[in-house]
Parts: sequence; structure tokens; C-alpha cells
Amino acid sequence: MSDLPERLSLREVGPRDGLQNEDPVPTADKIALIDALSLTGVSRIEAVSFVHPRAIPQMADAAEVWAAVTRNPAVRYSALVPNLTGAQRALDSGFTEIEVVVSASDTHNRKNVNRSTEESLDDIARIIDLVHGRGGSVQAIVSTAFGCPYEGEVPVERVVAVASRAMRDGADSLSFGDTTGMATPTRVTGLVGETRMALPDAGLNLHFHNTRGTGLANVLAAIELGVSDFDASVGGLGGCPYAPGASGNIATEELVHMVEDMGIDTGIRLDAMIAAAGEAERIVGRTLPSQVLRAGPRTRRTPAEGTATATAT
Ligand code: ZN
Repeated sequence: MSDLPERLSLREVGPRDGLQNEDPVPTADKIALIDALSLTGVSRIEAVSFVHPRAIPQMADAAEVWAAVTRNPAVRYSALVPNLTGAQRALDSGFTEIEVVVSASDTHNRKNVNRSTEESLDDIARIIDLVHGRGGSVQAIVSTAFGCPYEGEVPVERVVAVASRAMRDGADSLSFGDTTGMATPTRVTGLVGETRMALPDAGLNLHFHNTRGTGLANVLAAIELGVSDFDASVGGLGGCPYAPGASGNIATEELVHMVEDMGIDTGIRLDAMIAAAGEAERIVGRTLPSQVLRAGPRTRRTPAEGTATATAT
């Protein structure tokens, strides 16, 4: 266990990945959520995406949201873009950290952005040139990295090949997305291992979904390999677009709760993140899947007076 990182850098993706998969919410609520998150101690926030408003109406007000956010200088904010037009808009709005996304599976990429993985990679090369020319940085996100809802298994070699192409074209770092919650600890160990062999110097962020209950187990497997950059979503905001009713992103406060007990620092104040999760729940008007939001931290005490209603084990 001595290889465990001392500190994790978490990227809060609730305002983008979370809200994108919820019914649209008012602009003012988005701004308030980002501002609340920026005061929790989290180091990175994925604030918005610049996508076509017809494709994703939830993000139509991205520029407006970003213009009104109270920027915390201790936080690195990023925007996700699907193409060159989106990158241009993100830069024009003042973002310097850009995330581009490409699916390792061709079918998913075509459904997502209406072109092949190869064509998206060509576009990413142009985006990298554009962003670097304006002094920004680019993280290449490879989605369906642990499996595809249309194709099923996605070979590790395929994921590594897509990631390698983006890095060759100048991407500053990588992220692997478990888009539909198909990752397990065994698969995390396999993909991270192969990626390290092929791209030993690439900064690697991981994005897990808890669709099948393995979200935090996957984080633990990656932490034991020394990975220290993870995405998570406040309250577990955002569902799974391929499985109505299923949970999506892992919950930030659950991740913080687990790793802090392992002596790993995230910089995040758990009580502030739980409060932000309560606010997220109010904004979307539904019960969010986070169990730490329901139960509180493990040290929360119950008043001893009163009668237990069942024999607890
Ligand atoms: Zn996600």
C-alpha cells in the first residue's frame, strides 16, 4: 500500500456531465452550484460544455453561466467541447483548459458526434493546434474506454491506440471515461497498466460511473496503481443516458469520504461538499444517489435516546 498517492486531484463534473443528463435547470441555479462547489476546496471544476444547443439544450447557456461565475483563483475550471466550433467558443469565452472527447468505439462516436473515431481524432489535432496557439491546454478524453453500449467490449489495444494518437498530436493529458459503467477493478488494472507501458509520461485522469455499483472499487484499484486524478459528480448528479433510472457518475462526497479515511488528502471539506450535494438535489428536484449524502459521514452520531425500530446487525 506504500505506492498510494498522498493527495488526489478531483475534478468536479456535476455542473457539466451531471446537469447535462438531468432535465434543464435555470441559469442562475447552475451559477450558484458552480460557486458553491468552488468553495469546497475542490481543485478542478468542469464548468460547462460548448455543444450545439439543439443536441444538448441543457448547455445552451454555457457562455452566460461562465460569464457570471465567481472565479476562485484556487480552482482550475475547464470546458468540454465536441468539435472545433465548440473549442473556438470556449476560447472566446475565456477558458484556457479545454477537454475534447472522442469515443474508442466507432459506433458510439458516430451516435455521439456523427462521424468516425478517426475523423474525430483528425478534428482533435486541429483543436490542439488552435488551443495551443492561444496559450491553452487540452485534455483528450477517450470515452467508452471500458466498454460500449452498442459494441460491447472495447479492446484495450483500441483504447490505447486512440489515446496514443491524441498524445502524438500534442494533447497535454488524457482521461478515460467509463461512459456506461462497464469498468471493474480488473479492467482498470489492465487498461492503466497497458497505457503506462505505451505512454509512460502521459498524465492520466479517470472518470467512472457507478451504474453497476463498481465505481469506488474502480477508484481504489486505480489509486493502488498510483493514479491520482479523478472525476466525480456532486451528489452523483447525472444519470445514465443508456439505462433510464440507473445511476451515473460516482458521487464526489463518497469518494472524498473513502479516501480521507485512507489518509489521502483531496483538499475538499467533506461537510461543504455534502452541503453542495444537498443544494444539487434541490436544484434538480429529485433524490440523488449519493449514499454519503443520505447517511452522512461514518462518524455521524445518532441520539441514543428513543427506541430502535429493528434489531440492527
Ligand atoms: Zn460521466
